[in-house]
Amino acid sequence: MLDLPPIPDFHERSWALFLDVDGTLLELAEHPDKVVVPEGLVSLLVRLKNSLGGALALISGRSLASLEALLGETGLDAAGCHGAELRIAGTVKTFAGADTLVPRVAERLARRADAIPLAMVEVKTHSVAFHYRPPALDPGQARQLAEQALAGDAARFRLLAGKNVVEILPSDAGKGRAIACFLDRSPYAGRIPVFIGDDVTDEEGFREINRRDGLSIRVGADGETAARYRATDVAAATAWLDRLVGAAAEREIKQVKR
Ligand SMILES: [Mg+2]
Repeated sequence: MLDLPPIPDFHERSWALFLDVDGTLLELAEHPDKVVVPEGLVSLLVRLKNSLGGALALISGRSLASLEALLGETGLDAAGCHGAELRIAGTVKTFAGADTLVPRVAERLARRADAIPLAMVEVKTHSVAFHYRPPALDPGQARQLAEQALAGDAARFRLLAGKNVVEILPSDAGKGRAIACFLDRSPYAGRIPVFIGDDVTDEEGFREINRRDGLSIRVGADGETAARYRATDVAAATAWLDRLVGAAAEREIKQVKR
């Protein structure tokens, strides 16, 4: 298995950092509302952002509102709902129509899933997450239910399978596309991208990073991945980020001395 990459060299190139949140920066909990934000995490992210000239974005399945409730008003760039909402330099961009279509699809899905034990429809601002637990439902059956719920709106959405979840996103959204969107603009453009994620839904992000010869890092030892590197767990990923911010600070000191 591949290990974490060496700390990128700040002397040679400029880097852009993309970070998934749950399972990457935060330990997973039984329910997304129960996750704990470790002390020092937000300040680490802000220091990283500053040392990267602003080129840091969170790339999450949570909505932007949920990220803000969790981390506070960090002012960080972010993609919410798997890229269905983007906040870039304080401006929020969303995929047109999702806000009206999402409740409609969620309602149809909730009706179908009503009698299934441990199944839950989570309505986010611009996407829907259908959570289920085998054996009441297997991945194929869950996908089928989600497909049925799309009905006449199928062309406007795509389905994305995660761990015990089917995400229903606007057809143009996805973590890979979100990362590409950031890399099209300043301060991200022209930098070498790094993306750390932990889930099946992060794989599109890893492939986008690989196409650009960046560093793709998957947290956790399980699951096939396109990522070129692995971090054992959340603690290892966080420690790597700590060293990254340390290396950036060292470079600044050297520049000042010059
Ligand atoms: Mg995750």
